[in-house]
Amino acid sequence: MLEERSAGAILYRESPTGRLYLLLNYPSGHWDFVKGNIEKGEALKQTVLREIREETGITDVSFIDGFEDKVEYHYQREEGLVHKEVAFFLAKTSTEHVEISHEHLGFIWLGFNDALQKLTYKNAQNLMKKVRKLGFEA
Ligand code: ATP
Repeated sequence: MLEERSAGAILYRESPTGRLYLLLNYPSGHWDFVKGNIEKGEALKQTVLREIREETGITDVSFIDGFEDKVEYHYQREEGLVHKEVAFFLAKTSTEHVEISHEHLGFIWLGFNDALQKLTYKNAQNLMKKVRKLGFEA
């Protein structure tokens, strides 16, 4: 089986109406957190910072200590079935402005419950629920 490894972030910012989470609309249609493939020699958090920069233009990012998890899934490519693991961190920014790259169709900042509903995949929703369960949600 083909193996793929990505890393990403549940990225949030504080707004006057509360904490908002960033979701991206992927070309295949789903809504998910910012993430991307780990390049050779990269540490996971380096991947996350690079992907956030490349996919959103956001450069001020701080990781929240104590949260690290992963999401796993399989999907079909022409070359065969892929097993993919995505490591996720919780991270914070002060930037509201997003410059979406050509790799995505759109973005949205949503409060916790709306973001939970917007996420396409159950495993991503479960990841987000852990943020609340572990006490990281304000
Ligand atoms: P990356 O952001 O890591 O570069 P990508 O844009 O190449 O990823 P994915 O978002 O991993 O690709 O999507 C690849 C395939 O897997 C798509 O068909 C997508 O629908 C499916 N997929 C994406 N996320 C999940 C998930 N959390 N659970 C199940 N299937 C998923």
